[in-house]
Amino acid sequence: MSFHIKINDTVKVLAGKNKGKTGKVIQVLPKDHQVVVENVNKMFKHMRSPRRGEKGQRIEFAAPLPISKVMIVCPKCGKTARMNLVREGAKRSRVCKKCKVEID
Ligand SMILES: [Zn+2]
Repeated sequence: MSFHIKINDTVKVLAGKNKGKTGKVIQVLPKDHQVVVENVNKMFKHMRSPRRGEKGQRIEFAAPLPISKVMIVCPKCGKTARMNLVREGAKRSRVCKKCKVEID
């Protein structure tokens, strides 16, 4: 199962502590059914300094979210919508189920 999410899509988070947030997809992890959304689900990773006596670094990163918890925001109608996958020969495109406009 997939919602046909691609990098650079804008998605909205539907559930969890980031519910209601929107952001741009910066990574898709199809095997794990996860996506990484820019500035959403931020976490900190603590890196130990390789040298003793120096402070470790705190690195901020966006943790992956389950694909099932996000939905594409259609760039044409601005609504969260499921996409119909349309195949024409080798070309695949996505059509918004709400406004019926092709978004790819
Ligand atoms: Zn639409």
